[in-house]
Amino acid sequence: MSENNGKVRVRFAPSPTGYLHVGGARTAIYNYFFAKAMGGTFYLRIEDTDRKRYNETALHDLLRDLKWLGLQWDEGPGCEGDCGPYFQSDRLEIYHREIKKLLDSGDAYYCFCTEERLQEVRAEQEKSHVPVTGYDRHCRNISREEAEARIAAGEKYVIRLKVPETGVTEFDDMIRGHIEYQNELLDDLVLIKRDGYPTYHFASVVDDHLMGTTHVLRGDEWISSTPKHELLYKAFGWKPPVWCHLPVILDKNGGKLSKRKGAASVGDFRDLGYLPETLVNYLALLGWNPGDDREVMTLKEMIDAFTLERINPKSAMFDEKKLQWMNGQHIHMCDDTFLAGIMKEGLTGLGIDVSAEPEARIAEIVKLLKPRAHFVQDLAQMATYFFRAPTEYDEKGKAKHFGTGSKQIATEVREGLAALTDFTTPVIEKMFYDLAAATGRKVGDMVGAVRLAVSGVTAGPGLWELFEVVGKEEVLRRIDVALPLMG
Ligand code: GLU
Repeated sequence: MSENNGKVRVRFAPSPTGYLHVGGARTAIYNYFFAKAMGGTFYLRIEDTDRKRYNETALHDLLRDLKWLGLQWDEGPGCEGDCGPYFQSDRLEIYHREIKKLLDSGDAYYCFCTEERLQEVRAEQEKSHVPVTGYDRHCRNISREEAEARIAAGEKYVIRLKVPETGVTEFDDMIRGHIEYQNELLDDLVLIKRDGYPTYHFASVVDDHLMGTTHVLRGDEWISSTPKHELLYKAFGWKPPVWCHLPVILDKNGGKLSKRKGAASVGDFRDLGYLPETLVNYLALLGWNPGDDREVMTLKEMIDAFTLERINPKSAMFDEKKLQWMNGQHIHMCDDTFLAGIMKEGLTGLGIDVSAEPEARIAEIVKLLKPRAHFVQDLAQMATYFFRAPTEYDEKGKAKHFGTGSKQIATEVREGLAALTDFTTPVIEKMFYDLAAATGRKVGDMVGAVRLAVSGVTAGPGLWELFEVVGKEEVLRRIDVALPLMG
């Protein structure tokens, strides 16, 4: 048993059955933030007692995704602490030891009903429209001696909780407030299954207690399990943790965010090119605010500002546009060397060899492009014209910028540029303004054709900087190539 010594101990307790949904990721984020904000412990417990749904790949992906998000657990798989093992399937002895206590106190009982019998009971209840369906408590009063004799004779069984037939089970939730459930509506839930494994309810309560969990922060879909958990705590005579059920995340149509309708897992968003910093920041703000109007925040800033009180009880709407915007903001905050690495890799993938490029030039390009990138992989795509001349020009751009009069303007600009001995941003800029003054044109009308000629596209970083980085010879050459296409 772990003593929490008054310190916060929280957990993320996923079942390795599928991908890590962004809703689950947000639960992990809040647990992580809360532990860090309170100087407590964040542990990872793998709830793998449903052996039919267990999936080895899901487990591997889950650990990888949590690490990628930066939510390193203090205790859990690979970081053994005092209250392991952290895989529930390695804790069977503990559950068997604990269930014995409830059998001895009469709070739990053996049930020998077969699957067929349970189905019949269900069918009968549905036919007669009884208000409360569920197990009819057929085995509730079988004596311990009889039960043990039947087990010795080889009969299969489950172990159920003896839920009080009357009264209410009540608890407080930090987000939902005070909640009451009528006991008569609760089933005698199964605690130990026919295969000897505990159910989620039983394992979760035993572990939350033995692992010293002070607060349970989990998705709102678990709120209906909480009265069952409360009853278990009561049966054991243990103090329940503080409950905190997190509101759900909806898609933009108010439905559940699911893979069927698009990206929904952490892996999906990673593959789309989102940074982990973005995803953590965005998910954290879905349902929580730092108490002021900050939006783009670092991990440390969020942890420093985190309190459970500022979790919004209303469900939150996932907005991919906003996520995209936020990714741009985080790219802006990224270390240039990191982005340079990604850009170089992308360029190599596009067949552009940048191994001989001076680092200073690469750094210059990253600086120019990063304010315009929504995704890190955009950088390479956007950077191609710094390394090779365009082989085609944007169609709409051609119609707009290569029309009548453009050749004249581009020729004048070319002459102005050719005369420069110092091909740097301020000098290039001055040349444009001087030329505008001399010809009576607007600078804005002089840039379109030459930008398209040099880059092949109509939008990009500041033109003077772009020209400087492409270099004088190459800029002039590219304008020469495009001149015959202009009107
Ligand atoms: N294993 C449950 C899940 O998959 C955990 C629920 C809880 O946090 O109690 O989400």
